[in-house]
Amino acid sequence: MTRLHLALAIVALSMLAACASAPAPGRAAASAGYDPQQDLGLLWVKHSAEYTAITRQTYRFAEAALPRFIADTSWSAMPGQSDAEKLPPAVILDVDETVVSNVDFQLTFERPFTNRKLYDFYREHAAIPVAGVVDFVAAARKAGVDIFFVTNRPCETIDEEPDPCPQRHGVIDELESIGISTDDEHVLLADENDWDRAKIRRREHVANTHRVIMLFGDDLGDFVPCVRTKLYGPCTEPATKASRAQLVEKYTNYWGNGWYILPGPMHGSWTSFK
Ligand SMILES: [Mg+2]
Repeated sequence: MTRLHLALAIVALSMLAACASAPAPGRAAASAGYDPQQDLGLLWVKHSAEYTAITRQTYRFAEAALPRFIADTSWSAMPGQSDAEKLPPAVILDVDETVVSNVDFQLTFERPFTNRKLYDFYREHAAIPVAGVVDFVAAARKAGVDIFFVTNRPCETIDEEPDPCPQRHGVIDELESIGISTDDEHVLLADENDWDRAKIRRREHVANTHRVIMLFGDDLGDFVPCVRTKLYGPCTEPATKASRAQLVEKYTNYWGNGWYILPGPMHGSWTSFK
């Protein structure tokens, strides 16, 4: 090896070491000195009347559109869904920050985040409904719409739990506690049945049997795939700030028209693009 090669190798190794030790952008908040009690995103969700007003507004606006989307059997909120006229209508909702608010968990958990910490939190704390969702789900069901919950909480074993997928019943119990009853078939978690963390495959699974008339979520990934730096599902390139903005524009006609996004200032795919 020449001196030049040796120098280049040392530089490359140094860069690799730096990358390995640096926190991912989305985890920067986990670094020392971070105080959730000073995080404006968290404080806004916890304390602002505006947050409650926005979520209530979103669900009420969607409820008003239910009759139109139920009646128009050519309508689907899933781009590319066709031949669905005879399928029963369904709505897909994300769970965290869409149906239940995790703000108290976000304000108190010891960083870094793990799914286990969230699971344990809800064994001991009551779930907080996102304002407006309970009334919306009741209205949709009354109108004959099936409701599915697609969440990226994982389906994985926990040492002391005999259930191989205790998170599913964790979610079902949380929803029950806020007044939304559901069952195993309607709660679709990440990484089960060869589904990865891209929710598109689970949305397609619902679309096999239902005409999907509305999508709800707090993250761009609740509506379209390829919004993250990691490659999931059909994605071949890491997302960028620009590609995410382009997706919002590409599907502009869906926003407020079958797609209903809720505020997500506490966490989510956006945090990798600050
Ligand atoms: Mg969410």
